[in-house]
Amino acid sequence: MQGSYSICSGCRKPVSIKEKKSSKYLEGVHCPKCHDSLTDDQKSRFAMRQKQILLAKKLGKRHIFKKEY
Ligand SMILES: [Zn+2]
Repeated sequence: MQGSYSICSGCRKPVSIKEKKSSKYLEGVHCPKCHDSLTDDQKSRFAMRQKQILLAKKLGKRHIFKKEY
């Protein structure tokens, strides 16, 4: 279940419901506040990580993924 707000994975700041409705918000990736400051490379890495987390949740396992730096 989703809470009323969540923390942006891109900038670690709370994301409001209004911001979540923005086209610049992508769960687990970026919010309108950091959308413009993240590089495409960062966005694709966050998106990939988010995909693995969602997949792991779906499978009911703890998420295991390679750390990328
Ligand atoms: Zn953000």
